[in-house]
Amino acid sequence: PVSPSRKRLISDADLASISITNPTRRLFGKSGPTKLDLAVYYAMIGDFMLPHILGRPVSLVRCPSGRTQDCFFQRHPFTGMPPSVATFEAINSEGESRTYLSVEDAKGYLALAQFGVVEFHNWGATRRLLGKPDRVVFDLDPGEGIAWREVVEAAIHIKSELEALDLVPFVKTSGGKGVHVVVPVKPKLDWKKFHPATSALAGRLAATAPDSFTTTMGKNNRVKRIFIDYHRNARSHTWAAPYSLRARTNLPASTPLSWADLEAIDAPQDLNYSSLPGLLASSGDPWADIDAFARDLPLL
Ligand code: ATP
Ligand code: MN
Ligand code: MN
Repeated sequence: PVSPSRKRLISDADLASISITNPTRRLFGKSGPTKLDLAVYYAMIGDFMLPHILGRPVSLVRCPSGRTQDCFFQRHPFTGMPPSVATFEAINSEGESRTYLSVEDAKGYLALAQFGVVEFHNWGATRRLLGKPDRVVFDLDPGEGIAWREVVEAAIHIKSELEALDLVPFVKTSGGKGVHVVVPVKPKLDWKKFHPATSALAGRLAATAPDSFTTTMGKNNRVKRIFIDYHRNARSHTWAAPYSLRARTNLPASTPLSWADLEAIDAPQDLNYSSLPGLLASSGDPWADIDAFARDLPLL
């Protein structure tokens, strides 16, 4: 469902207040994009990306040196963090209270982009209802010997199986080798019931084509198969946000696509910091109405 209407979430006033430190620093290679390119991408894409990340716990991938090997994952407040980034207390999986991060407005988002944050990852739950997730993700991880075209066909197979269960699946590239099939659900189950329910569903999906899929972790199990990784659906686990760039050469984007457009993509890495803003300006956000399609997650 493509909605051409484009909400203005980032105003000219927000943009005028941006100041970027080390704007010419290159990311991921001598001729790679600059820190300024990164900030400009997030500013241009913000009206599309913000609805998907606002109010959700966020983890960040930071790469201060611009080298892949120096990138690190940040899930808690840090020195120099822009004050417009929101913080909140929650219990971690060990039952201890920890401070987490979220983006609550355009200011916090743009501040992180200008700070040089490369990747945004979110929980499949909102802060408001932290205990009851509203997004299922099946992270399709191709094993060795699986071509992109096979990933696409597998995702489309999974789409029709999910639709047969009255669910409405959405898809995005991961920005890496795989795709993420995302299903909006009504926030009713707590994490203790939710993760097992996604496990049962992944098992059901894999059983429809056992030669193509596995739900068992471990590289050996997925030679010439696709691992349906459902573990992103556990409490405090994250996955790359829609429209997040990925910390590698040429900054590919985790790109939401209509199912028809997914079939037409031959090289997902070409959806990146420089190409995506232009493409989106004409097509709109294929996930714009995602919340309207939330259904009950079936307990199989
Ligand atoms: P691909 O298609 O290549 O599998 P992906 O985004 O699905 O891309 P990864 O980039 O390997 O896969 O990320 C795996 C998951 O682990 C992501 O959802 C991310 O949120 C999470 N993650 C990544 N790094 C860390 C970390 N250091 N600590 C905790 N979680 C992490
Ligand atoms: Mn993956
Ligand atoms: Mn995975």
